[in-house]
Amino acid sequence: MKFLKFFSKKNYSSNLRGNKKPKFPKELSLLPLRNSVMFPNTATSIVVGREKTLKQINDAEKNREIIGVVAQKDETIENPTYEDIYKVGTASSILRISRLSENNITVTIQGLKRFKIKRIIREEPYFTALVEYIDEKENKDVETDALFLGLKDLASKAASLSKNIPGELVQMIQSISSPATLADLVASNLTISVKEKQKLLETFDIKTRLRLVSLHINRELQALEIAEKIRSDVVGNVTKAQREFYLKEQLKAIKKELGESDEDNDIAELEKKIKDAEMPEEALQEAKKELNRLSKMHPSSAEYTVSRTYIEWLTDLPWNRYTEDNLDLDNVKQILDEDHFNLEKPKKRIIEYLAVRKLKPQKKGPILCFAGPPGVGKTSLGRSIARALGRKFIRVSLGGVRDEAEIRGHRKTYVGAMPGRIIQGIKRAGAKNPVFMLDEIDKLGTDFRGDPSSALLEVLDPEQNFAFSDHYLNVSFDLSQVMFIATANVLESIPPVLLDRMEVLSIPGYSEEEKTMIAKKHIIPKQIEEHGIKSDDIEFEDSAIVQIIRDYTRESGLRNLEREIATICRMTAVNKAKGENKKTVITANDIHKYLGAKKFFSETALRITRPGIATGLSWTPSGGEIIFIEASKMPGKGNLILTGQLGDVMKESAQAALTFIRSQAEIFGIDEKFYEKSEIHIHVPAGAIPKDGPSAGITIFTALLSLLTGKKVKKDIAMTGEITLRGTVLPVGGIKEKVLAAKRAGIKTIILPLLNKKDVEELPKEHIKDIEFFYIQSIDEAVGKSFEEEINLPMQKSIYV
Ligand code: ADP
Repeated sequence: MKFLKFFSKKNYSSNLRGNKKPKFPKELSLLPLRNSVMFPNTATSIVVGREKTLKQINDAEKNREIIGVVAQKDETIENPTYEDIYKVGTASSILRISRLSENNITVTIQGLKRFKIKRIIREEPYFTALVEYIDEKENKDVETDALFLGLKDLASKAASLSKNIPGELVQMIQSISSPATLADLVASNLTISVKEKQKLLETFDIKTRLRLVSLHINRELQALEIAEKIRSDVVGNVTKAQREFYLKEQLKAIKKELGESDEDNDIAELEKKIKDAEMPEEALQEAKKELNRLSKMHPSSAEYTVSRTYIEWLTDLPWNRYTEDNLDLDNVKQILDEDHFNLEKPKKRIIEYLAVRKLKPQKKGPILCFAGPPGVGKTSLGRSIARALGRKFIRVSLGGVRDEAEIRGHRKTYVGAMPGRIIQGIKRAGAKNPVFMLDEIDKLGTDFRGDPSSALLEVLDPEQNFAFSDHYLNVSFDLSQVMFIATANVLESIPPVLLDRMEVLSIPGYSEEEKTMIAKKHIIPKQIEEHGIKSDDIEFEDSAIVQIIRDYTRESGLRNLEREIATICRMTAVNKAKGENKKTVITANDIHKYLGAKKFFSETALRITRPGIATGLSWTPSGGEIIFIEASKMPGKGNLILTGQLGDVMKESAQAALTFIRSQAEIFGIDEKFYEKSEIHIHVPAGAIPKDGPSAGITIFTALLSLLTGKKVKKDIAMTGEITLRGTVLPVGGIKEKVLAAKRAGIKTIILPLLNKKDVEELPKEHIKDIEFFYIQSIDEAVGKSFEEEINLPMQKSIYV
């Protein structure tokens, strides 16, 4: 049943006129209204669909009967019982019935008089009740008049303000002369709950009813006035800005409702970040421009994210953030000494560098490059410099970088574009003046994607790097305060233009004694700390450290030593965590318990078991190494077979050695025709690693001579040097590393070209302790020294003249 309410002059006046006085029977059929209250002197339309009610309306119409309209307490109830209806209602007459279809009619009813239900007489086919009518007496006193006029006034105002009330109602209100009628008419139009309306229906005293209705209408009038004010404010003289604000607020509300992100907050946040970033003018303009673009984009678009990330990059960079340098040189020296054993040369150079900076801050210092095998402390020295200066430390590996964009970034129009490694590093550092380590600068590559070294050149050049341009940022960044330090294993593969800009400090590697000292002073305390144990929990005897160095590592640096010591510390930590409290003393005899079987053996003793093998010294990027050159002979037609991935230079030097032996066969006491009946095979293990260079010349010669004379080479002798076809010995490189490698391998004598003597003399004393150096100018000088049994050299001096 749908409820419609209306006022029409006709309905209203028909009642006023009261053409035909209705008769009020004692029994009334009851018509429950779901969501409204029927008042006397008002008319209303209801749509009837229920069969029960249809029958009731039909019966009432047929018999011209009055019906009792009552309100339902709960509008959701479909079939109300007696308990579900209010007990005061309005006797009403049917004015008109419009039949839309058989089962769907609209009935217009007119409220006539209040009644009270005394009791229910019948429940079927519809409720019929015995009722008592309420006769309303209107006292014409001053108070009633005043209330009546007041209500009239309020009602007229409310009617003129409300859009929902037809205009005629205002005139109608003015023409009403009965206070009770006015109160009921206004009451039925109030926008209040059914319960409150019912209360007004049940207020039989006219004065009280007038007062209550006045109260309600007054409240409604206030609400209407406020709404009107807001409306006129908004529609009236709003300026453009206000209008925009208003619209934006509405848009925000709509977006919130749709669950979209609050992009305004985002923009405001970025705006603040831009303000706080202290950018130079160029970057500031760029950031603002981008923010302006961003504010016009839809937050869920891909472009929005790209643009936002770009602004964030700009704002996150330390445009104007520095750390204060600590240029107290004594303090710097103390920190460098604390962190690193020895390394006097690099340390001294660093102090000089800082001294100049202190006296002349504007002077652009050179770029330092630490060169040496892995694990000799290049990185940790850089870290230590940063600590001493109070600067941030950043390390960026350049190994395998082939693309210029890796250094300088991709333009931001590329999908997934990012700034290059330099700018990324600066962001991570969070300061404009970090110590910036460019690791493995010797492993830079070049290919079709551009030359990264030219971009690096700009980074490292003090004349240019105050305005380094990264493609992604698109604005320049000042790198002039950064202290760049490069590291490299090999200098030869550093692009010459870069090498030219750098000052190289070599760190060649450590001897066994130095390693022992470093382990005791630095590595062991560091590992103890890192594993959460105390120096009271573990002690390494010196002999144990030496044992680890000899049997478990073979390196120039300290990486493996550190790893093995870490393994032992870890095991001690496990024991301690289990509750064991006694101190663990690590002795040489215990080592295998912790580290398993020996990893390295003194190979020289094992390898040199027969004639045809000689020990050489080679240089690799990871330090010096000893190599064993093996020669073998078999029947054949004089071929020379070379295996072990030898490079051209090495192959040629093998040819040269063989030619020289053949030319001097008689002198060496070798059958001159050996070459006709046999083939010679020279192999250099490890076969999988490519080798090259001329420095194996004298070793190949010695191996061949041993093979052909059948005399063994001494076990504890190693050699390096290039030979010419005529037996002259030429100097070679990498002496420091080679000497250290020989020492590690337990070599007692090293044969070197005479011209390398100066290199040996430059080495620290402890590196050459216990080693005999034997310098030669021609190969025959080596022959007397290298073999276990003497080789017959009757015409020694004439060999090479
Ligand atoms: P690199 O960068 O040369 O490969 P690292 O800096 O990584 O070598 O050094 C490896 C380890 O050896 C580090 O733990 C470092 O502290 C230690 N180390 C190297 N040289 C020294 C030294 N002279 N004094 C103390 N510790 C050192």
